[in-house]
Amino acid sequence: MNQKQVYGFTEGNAGMKTLLGGKGANLAEMTRVGLPVPKGFTITTDACKAYLHHERNLPQGIMTQITEAMADLEARTGQGFGERENPLLVSVRSGSVTSMPGMMDTILNLGLNDESVEGLAKLTGNPRFAYDCYRRLMQMFGNVVLGIEHIHFDRLLQQLKTEEGVMDDQEVSADGWIRLTGLYNSCYIKHANRPFPQNVHEQLQLAIEAVFGSWNNPRAIVYRKINQIPDDQGTAVNVQCMVFGNKGNDCGTGVVFTRNPSTGETGLYGEYLINAQGEDVVAGIRTPQPIQTLHEEMPDVYEQLSRVANGLELHYKDMQDIEFTVENGKLYLLQTRGGKRNAQAALKIAVDLVTEGLLRKEDALNRIEAAHLDQLLHRGIDEAAVKDLLATGLPASPGAAAGQIVFDADTAEEWARSGKQVILVRPETTPEDIHGVLAAEGILTSRGGMTSHAAVVARGMGKPCVCGCESIRIQLEEKRILVDGRSLTEGEWLTLDGGSGRVIAGIVPLREAEITPELERMLEWADEVRTLKVLANADSPQDARTAREFGAEGIGLCRTEHMFLSPAKLPIVQKMILAESKEERVQALAQLLPMQQQDFEEIFEQMDGLPVTIRLLDPPLHEFLPNSAELQKQLAQLGEGQADAEPERRRLTVLLQKVNSLHEANPMLGQRGCRLGIVYPEIYDMQTEAIFKAALKCVDAGIKVLPEIMIPLVGHDSELKLLRERVEALAREILGEEKGRRLDYKIGTMIEVPRAALTAHRIAPYADFFSFGTNDLTQMTLGYSRDDAEGKFLTHYIDQKLLSHNPFQVLDTEGVGRLIEMAVSAGRSVKPSLKTGICGEHGGDKESIFFCQRVGLNYVSCSPYRIPLARIAAAQAWIQWNGEQSRETAKAG
Ligand code: ADP
Ligand code: MG
Ligand code: MG
Repeated sequence: MNQKQVYGFTEGNAGMKTLLGGKGANLAEMTRVGLPVPKGFTITTDACKAYLHHERNLPQGIMTQITEAMADLEARTGQGFGERENPLLVSVRSGSVTSMPGMMDTILNLGLNDESVEGLAKLTGNPRFAYDCYRRLMQMFGNVVLGIEHIHFDRLLQQLKTEEGVMDDQEVSADGWIRLTGLYNSCYIKHANRPFPQNVHEQLQLAIEAVFGSWNNPRAIVYRKINQIPDDQGTAVNVQCMVFGNKGNDCGTGVVFTRNPSTGETGLYGEYLINAQGEDVVAGIRTPQPIQTLHEEMPDVYEQLSRVANGLELHYKDMQDIEFTVENGKLYLLQTRGGKRNAQAALKIAVDLVTEGLLRKEDALNRIEAAHLDQLLHRGIDEAAVKDLLATGLPASPGAAAGQIVFDADTAEEWARSGKQVILVRPETTPEDIHGVLAAEGILTSRGGMTSHAAVVARGMGKPCVCGCESIRIQLEEKRILVDGRSLTEGEWLTLDGGSGRVIAGIVPLREAEITPELERMLEWADEVRTLKVLANADSPQDARTAREFGAEGIGLCRTEHMFLSPAKLPIVQKMILAESKEERVQALAQLLPMQQQDFEEIFEQMDGLPVTIRLLDPPLHEFLPNSAELQKQLAQLGEGQADAEPERRRLTVLLQKVNSLHEANPMLGQRGCRLGIVYPEIYDMQTEAIFKAALKCVDAGIKVLPEIMIPLVGHDSELKLLRERVEALAREILGEEKGRRLDYKIGTMIEVPRAALTAHRIAPYADFFSFGTNDLTQMTLGYSRDDAEGKFLTHYIDQKLLSHNPFQVLDTEGVGRLIEMAVSAGRSVKPSLKTGICGEHGGDKESIFFCQRVGLNYVSCSPYRIPLARIAAAQAWIQWNGEQSRETAKAG
């Protein structure tokens, strides 16, 4: 059976992305609605998959279908493929299902050979143009099909320009281009052992195969990994009649966005080049002109372009990124897709589309990339600290970043891996640099516009980027930047402000971002929709305030150990730990009590009216003491026999002994959490007392306090039973002392030991809430110690796809999640009112939040800066879950 593997643009539509790729489906859609799209056809992603599966052999019968489709193009254009008179030229374009800008290959002007180029020259009366097309074809084909590196072609081109004494490609003469094609042919023979193929059918087949193969080129693989695009989607190939933007000064090519992709502002935004072909704009060969200039240069074309752009936006109900070419004053559309945008723009566009009546609130919420919000909420530079402005380029992707200068992607990757912050500085970036862009804090280029690859990729990743900064000179070989008579070399610090395009020498401190009105709107909509509560992990009054400003509905995790580490408390804490007797310990604790009480008072005050979950002391005690090696060093330095050093020596020796005695083989599984509270009840007593006294004092001051005491690391119900009774007894005592006052409080536990999850029905009677401590629960369920895993084997696991994600960042729903699900239902089976939530990093991760919604948790708790993200993700989670529920009811009914 001969499957249909080739679809004319007249046969497809926007709904066929999986089969035709995004580019193919949208070209068909634009054709369908009558827009001026050059004719062509799409070879399916299925064909690509078959090709890759069968050791790079095209599926059977496909060449016949392609030949037929080519014949059809010939008939409809009146041109002949490979013919001397009126030759048909096509582009062979990659186009994957999920847009991967520039990651795969495209060849233009295919169908030219020594014969047809003559014909084209004659037909157009423009040999300069014909040979310009030919040399472009030879370079792209050589690179894509035969793997000849661009640099070989570029060197020859550079030489030619020097010989002709010109700077720009457009100034090269017809003779120059003719000569260059000859030189390129020798280049083929030298580097690929064969001449450029004169048979156009051979050109076409090789090009199609190479574009299919480009699905597995290294940069595409990296890009898919970063963007979590499945490796088995494959790319489609689009074969399309050429239109020419390089025929003269009434021609050109460009890219427009229907709204500004950095700010979201309405109005056409983009750039173009007169007398150029497509690749020139994205490759950043020349810095293009802003689209508004087109308004003056070609008013009719501009007018038509804006109309089309608006129409496309209405049609797709989203901001579009559109490629166009003008040939002798006539506009053609070559691509449209949902435009990549940064978080700020995404928000504004989504809010505006709702206001304009194009989108529903829920759709707008779904469009927000939760991960990008994170970046939005972190950046900006401290203006007051901008001292040494070096240059200003194009503000290609906002956000600020500081880092050390590196000049190539490999170094960027290497340095970043060793923990350095780097800024990748390149004349322009090509898709081969993607791993460097990924590793860098920010990107700076001296050439290229707002739609160059560097800009597009950086915006997609939400990285700060300054492009086309022409006042700096980059000398790659010397590894230095020359600017304004100064020179900066590799390793020096640079700060970029991608929002304004500024390049600043040195490190400028970053300033915390604020919530914009658009974000505020979106968050309000999210709050209307979501059912999951969003709480914060906050250990200090400052954190509590930030959390509240970002919309936290309480504190889900307040870690008391951070308070113990404050300079005022640490010496007393150490005294408490080093105490030889219980009395001594109680004495130290008595000193700590008022301080701890004050901490709680301040936090309660900030969280007036909202619940505050306080976790009693959790980490092993040795974490509060100096380390043993350090002490030994100090002892050794004291010097022998000096009498006045004696007391210090004695102190250090005792300390060292104590430190050694507290040493544990595996502290993570040692004496910590509730085990501490059981062995040293007076520690938890002090904390409990501090909580209740603080609460009462706040109540007196008119503050509404809702304390929730959380016992960590419970594995057995007996532990919680014991500790709960102790807390309750003490609470009764304190509240009773104060003449029988009432205070609503809760006592609950963290579920972070697998046994606790497995016996949740036995633990629930003693717990008012379960808070899943998913960090420890992940460690113990997978048997990974986080530091060791992340430092050693985890990257290998992820690279080899043994794990799809780092389980400490994205919840392992299959394993750890299973335990959570079991514990929730077992707990609720004995106590329906049981409150459940998660705390820890997963609480701020979108995928994990979706999981929490599915298993019916009541809340997530995450770091203050992730609160807005979590609010949006919680709304998205509800929308998705609700959709699934109603589909299921519909099915059942
Ligand atoms: P990419 O995914 O890298 O953008 P494209 O397939 O879109 O690759 O093509 C690269 C450039 O060539 C684009 O600027 C595009 O507009 C241009 N181009 C592609 N096909 C044609 C064509 N048939 N006529 C004129 N320009 C084309
Ligand atoms: Mg394109
Ligand atoms: Mg824990």
